[in-house]
Amino acid sequence: MVAENGLEAVLDVVPMPMVLIRNDQRIEFANGLAGDLLGTGIEGRHYTVVLRQPAISDGIESVLSGKTAKLNCTYIATEAMREATYRVTVARLEVNGQVYAAATFVDATDMYEAGQIRRDFVANVSHELRTPLTALIGFIETLKDAARDDTTARERFLEVMDAEANRMNRLVSDLLSLSRVESEQRMRPTDVSDVAGILMSVISSLQPLADENGVEIAVVGADAPVKVFGDDDQLAQVFSNLIENALKYGGRGSHVEATLEQRAYDPNVRGPSATVTIADDGDGFDPIHIPRLTERFYRIDTHRSRELGGTGLGLAIVKHIVTRHRGRFRIESTPKEGSRFSVTLPLE
Ligand code: ADP
Repeated sequence: MVAENGLEAVLDVVPMPMVLIRNDQRIEFANGLAGDLLGTGIEGRHYTVVLRQPAISDGIESVLSGKTAKLNCTYIATEAMREATYRVTVARLEVNGQVYAAATFVDATDMYEAGQIRRDFVANVSHELRTPLTALIGFIETLKDAARDDTTARERFLEVMDAEANRMNRLVSDLLSLSRVESEQRMRPTDVSDVAGILMSVISSLQPLADENGVEIAVVGADAPVKVFGDDDQLAQVFSNLIENALKYGGRGSHVEATLEQRAYDPNVRGPSATVTIADDGDGFDPIHIPRLTERFYRIDTHRSRELGGTGLGLAIVKHIVTRHRGRFRIESTPKEGSRFSVTLPLE
C-alpha cells in the first residue's frame, strides 16, 4: 500500500496531476491535482471508467501487462473555459513487490495551440502567395501562346502582372515587418521619437494617394513636438498603415481626421500619454469584427481588401508595434458612419 510507506505524502506534493493504478486495474491513489482534473473520490474505481480515452487506457494496460515500461500519450480534458491538452507519461512503478502504472499529466495546451497557430499561419501565407503566383503563371503562358502577337492584349496582361507581382512584394515586406517586430517584442525602444513630427511626415507622404482617392486629410493637435520612447520607423509604419486603411476603406470623397492629444494622467498607460486617432467617415463595419481585426490575415471583406491591394497584415503589424511600445490600440466603428483607430503611447 502506498499510504503505508509515506509515498502518498510525497505524491501529493508533486506539482502535477498524478494517479497510481494497481495491477487489478483499480486506482490506488490520486493526488490533489489529479482530483481537480479527474474528479474527487476516484480511488478504488476501475481506471477505464475514469480515464475513458483509448490512448491513455491502452497505455495503462500496456504498462500493467509488462509490455512497456514507459510511454507518452495525450489526454484531452474539457475545462470550464477551454479544451485542455495534457501530455501524459505512463510509467511502471514497483513498490514493495506491488506493481503500479503511474500516470502523470503535464498541461501542454499552450504548446499544442502554438503549433496549430504556426501551421495555420504557414497555410495562410502559402495560400496568399499562391493566388498572385497562379495569376502570373497563367499570364506568362498566355503571352507565350495566344497573346504572342497581340500588342493590345500584351500591354493589358503586363499591367495585371505588374499589379500581381507588386501584391506579392507587399505581402513579403509585411511578413518581414511582422517578423522583425515580433522578434523585438520584449525590447522596449530606448530612443526618443517625436510623434507629432512622424505623424506630419507620414501624412505628407500619403498626400498624393489621398488626392488620387479624392479624400481630404485634416490634422489636429500635431503642431508641437510630442516625445515618447519609440522607434521612428515603426511608429511611421503604424500611422501609415492606419491612414492608408482610412484612405482605402473610407472611399472617394470621404474625410480623414488625424488627431494628436496628450493627457497628464492616462489609466491605460498609468502615466502621461499621447494618443493619435485616425478617424474616417467611410462605411464603417459591425463592431462584432473588432476583437479579430488584429489577427493576421483577418479581413471583413476579403474580396474588397484584395481589390484595394491589402495584405490582411496591416493591423496585426500595428498591434505588435504598439505592444512593443507598451501602448494601447483601440478600434471603434459604426456601420455607415465610419471608424476610429486610436494608438495611445506612454510619454517619455
Ligand atoms: P488589409 O490589408 O486587408 O487592409 P488590415 O490588417 O490593414 O488588412 O485590415 C484588416 C481589415 O480591417 C481590412 O481588410 C478591412 O476589412 C478592415 N479595416 C481596416 N481599416 C478599416 C477602415 N478604416 N474602415 C473599414 N474597414 C477597415
